[in-house]
Amino acid sequence: MKVGIVGAGIAGLACAERLRRDGIASVLLDKGKRPGGRLSTLRLDDLAWDFGAQYLNPGDGAFAAEVRRWRERGWVAPWPAGPQGALVGMPAMASLIEAQCEEHDVRFGATVQRIESDGLAWHVSGPGLCEGPFAALVVAIPAEQAAPLLSLHDLSMAREAASAQSQPCWTVMAAFAEPLAGLPAFLRDAGAVAWAARNNSKPGRGAAECWVIQAGAQWSRQHLEAPREEVADLLLDQFAGACGRDVPAPTFLKAHRWRFALPYGERGAVLWNPALRLGACGDWCLPPQIEGAWRSGAELGERIAAALLPLRVGGAVG
Ligand SMILES: Cc1cc2nc3c(=O)[nH]c(=O)nc-3n(C[C@H](O)[C@H](O)[C@H](O)COP(=O)(O)OP(=O)(O)OC[C@H]3O[C@@H](n4cnc5c(N)ncnc54)[C@H](O)[C@@H]3O)c2cc1C
Repeated sequence: MKVGIVGAGIAGLACAERLRRDGIASVLLDKGKRPGGRLSTLRLDDLAWDFGAQYLNPGDGAFAAEVRRWRERGWVAPWPAGPQGALVGMPAMASLIEAQCEEHDVRFGATVQRIESDGLAWHVSGPGLCEGPFAALVVAIPAEQAAPLLSLHDLSMAREAASAQSQPCWTVMAAFAEPLAGLPAFLRDAGAVAWAARNNSKPGRGAAECWVIQAGAQWSRQHLEAPREEVADLLLDQFAGACGRDVPAPTFLKAHRWRFALPYGERGAVLWNPALRLGACGDWCLPPQIEGAWRSGAELGERIAAALLPLRVGGAVG
């Protein structure tokens, strides 16, 4: 029997990879139409924007070893114009997820709305979706989305998820006919703008002038329910203010709302109920961000392997 993993972001994939090392197969179910999660990239002809995570740090320990593997495979590369030591997905942040998805059984367009156990195995369902049986189940999605799935099975796990809340982030993608001269490759903490980056300064991207502008948590919360067209204009104005100059009319402008962008109040541990064989991981379990998400998935995978491997001797796990 396989392990079911809800969510094919960095955390879910790290869990699947750790299980695979012990010969345990998994099926990842992701509601997205394509790979990415919070490492998403929008591509339009010769334009591209990494509109979620911007870069990763090499980290240390087991994560550093995994990052070296990603570098050797050409999945990430240094971003010399970026923050010190920054690495980016190649040729897009989403590529790091795409490459890992190719090595696993991942189903996209699979929104999990219910998880059920008959005492022996887990089954999951959602619109047009019915998957299982699974020997164990992992919920690797943002805390707010994990809590309702967990609540029917393990109240204390659901409570842990409900207490780890996320802050939102409005993100604007803008393209310009000409390079915005005189600006660095990235700006941070300039008024409402928490981060802005010239996407085409990252390696492997095209030459077209594409900027990603991300608002801080407070501004994003204040404008959470505002229409995206309005937010796009407002945040572009904030960007011009941060640059201290006029910005020409963009040739493309689009806003994306990340309702659950970055967690705060992280727990410091993954969740695993050995009696139910139900676990949860994600960046809300272990900080920081991409590294924490990966470490949480790898750690949960290790605990599941330790629980399932003795059963395989008896033939319960294939
Ligand atoms: C705007 C922004 C900027 C960021 N910048 C950085 C940065 O520069 N550096 C950094 O290290 N980190 C950054 N982060 C954080 C980083 O992206 C996350 O910490 C990390 O990607 C979390 O990985 P995850 O696997 O826990 O979650 P996710 O990437 O969110 O993956 C969860 C997956 O679950 C799927 N899913 C959700 N609900 C369901 C469901 N019910 N059924 C099926 N599938 C479901 C989603 O589609 C998604 O693919 C940023 C995040 C955002 C949003």
